[in-house]
Amino acid sequence: MSKTQDHEKFRSFLARKGLRATNQRLAILDAALAQPDHFTAEQLLGYARSIDDSVARATVYRTLPIMTESALLREVDIGAGEKFYRANRAGQDSQVAQVVCLDCDRIFEIGAPFMSWYGNSVSSKLGLTPVSQRLQVSARCDALRDAGACPRRPASRSTHAQVKGPQRRV
Ligand SMILES: [Zn+2]
Repeated sequence: MSKTQDHEKFRSFLARKGLRATNQRLAILDAALAQPDHFTAEQLLGYARSIDDSVARATVYRTLPIMTESALLREVDIGAGEKFYRANRAGQDSQVAQVVCLDCDRIFEIGAPFMSWYGNSVSSKLGLTPVSQRLQVSARCDALRDAGACPRRPASRSTHAQVKGPQRRV
C-alpha cells in the first residue's frame, strides 16, 4: 500500500470511531509504518515525537489499538509482559516464523513456507482446512552467553525479566 492509501485507510477507521485524523495521529501512523522492525509503544512515542514533538503519550496508547484493528500494524505477543508491534507491509509473506531472543529483546521473522504445507497436511487428516497458524520460537543469545555482549542487545537493558511500564522515559 502507498502512504496515501495507508492514510486513507487510517482516516476511515478513525472516522468510524468518531475521531479526527489529527497531525498527531498521522505522525504516529507515519512513525509506525516507517519502522522496519518491531517496536514498543514507548519506542513509537519517541519515533512519533521526532516527526511531531507535540505527540502525547496517551495519544500513542489510544492510537495503537486503532492501527492494529485496521490491520496497519499487528501486535506481536512474546509473552514478556510488554507488547510489540510491527507494521504490516503489502506483499509481506504471511507464512512467517518468529524467533524471539529472550536475552536481547529482539524478534526475528523468517519466511517459513513449510508452515502452509505442514498446516494443510495435519488439518486434512482431520478433514479440516487451516485458516491461520503461527510458529514462535523462544531462544537464548549465543553471543551474549559466549562473549558476554551482543550488538543486538539494547544498552539500557539490565535484566531479562525487566518489565517496562508505560511511564518509562526513553
Ligand atoms: Zn543477542
